[in-house]
Amino acid sequence: MKLQEIMKIQVKSVPEQGMTEHALYDPAKLDMQREDVRVEPFEVDAFITLADSELIVRADIRSPIKLVCGRCLEEFPREIKTSALYSYHVSPADVVDITEDVRQEIILNYPMVPLCRPDCKGLCLQCGQDLNQGTCEHQQES
Ligand SMILES: [Zn+2]
Ligand SMILES: [Zn+2]
Repeated sequence: MKLQEIMKIQVKSVPEQGMTEHALYDPAKLDMQREDVRVEPFEVDAFITLADSELIVRADIRSPIKLVCGRCLEEFPREIKTSALYSYHVSPADVVDITEDVRQEIILNYPMVPLCRPDCKGLCLQCGQDLNQGTCEHQQES
């Protein structure tokens, strides 16, 4: 499937019973990388309904990410899986793009400080030994 950068919804084409849209997004174009967070192509399933002048979009988001552990600096995979409900005040001629809202939703779900595991022991500050793999002389001293 082709990577997308937008999901545009034409208000006048939303049927009474609602409709679904699916997108596989290319994060490279969306300015969402952080030094310790790398976003991979992510999927959005949207269910779209129109109630008078409100466009209601329920978005199911699945975003695989690579994180760098804040303690041991190892890279590890995670998946952000979340749902969001958006409503937009629209007129029939409008075209709504939900991309910016989805992008912000994913960024809000980034961990403040990624940890590869809750009890990650991190690195020795003196020699850089990964203390998950084993201890060094500096640890035995203290
Ligand atoms: Zn770690
Ligand atoms: Zn050490």
